[in-house]
Amino acid sequence: MGRVAGVTRAETRERLLSAAADEFARRGYDGTRVADIARAAGVSNGALYAHFGSKAELLVAALRAHGRRLLADLFDADPERPVVELLLAIGRWLPKRRDARAHLVVEALVAARRDEEVARPMRDYVGERADWLAGLMRVAQAGEEMDPALSPDALAHFCLVLGMGSALIPPDLHAVGDEEWAALLARIVGALAPPGSAAVPHGRNTMKVRIDPKRCQGHGRCYDLAPGLFGEDDEGYGTVLGDGSVPQGGEHEARLAVANCPERAIDVLGEE
Ligand code: SF4
Repeated sequence: MGRVAGVTRAETRERLLSAAADEFARRGYDGTRVADIARAAGVSNGALYAHFGSKAELLVAALRAHGRRLLADLFDADPERPVVELLLAIGRWLPKRRDARAHLVVEALVAARRDEEVARPMRDYVGERADWLAGLMRVAQAGEEMDPALSPDALAHFCLVLGMGSALIPPDLHAVGDEEWAALLARIVGALAPPGSAAVPHGRNTMKVRIDPKRCQGHGRCYDLAPGLFGEDDEGYGTVLGDGSVPQGGEHEARLAVANCPERAIDVLGEE
């Protein structure tokens, strides 16, 4: 099996990355052979090595291409939205994460502990994520959402630890109540605000979201854009988390999901 006729070099690379993400997530780093990935991608081992020098390189490249970057996606979708709101939206979703992509980062972190060949590119990858997050923290500080006296690097590290830690502790290992978690996050965000600024409110809200299952077609825009409010069922259809109550500060997220549902399947109740 050499190069597949009619497939460009970039397409072959993408096929390899996608196959690698699936295989590593399913079989683990140690249990995956390079030949398994080549076969799943429909190319020869030689073609794989023309793109990637080693299995370790392929693992980290797959993570870069297919690891879940919810925060970056939300920021790109709505760059005007306050950074603190984005962080709260992601933070509320973290204890519920069950995405298959989380397995990929877990595999890479575990492999990096055992294998220096993986640790080297992982240092670069984690460094890139930390730099991006520190830049986002600077945006929040410039917008007076966060205390400029705090180190953006320390804030970025805190976010990384929470994000990657959540991949290691899915809800079937340990669960936390939605409201208790949201209240804690609101308190943390309030503590990070510039001195004298109004703290993020953490009271209750009367707003609720609801999905009409007859209209939902499973496009997934709701749980991609508002992961703190919506989840997906086994077939990818949208579901509301808990009883659909929108926590304080989550109103923008709810409206964003409503505006982006192509089937108009989401209703907001209790909005003035
Ligand atoms: S965006 Fe709308 S159609 Fe898509 S999963 Fe959510 S509710 Fe369903």
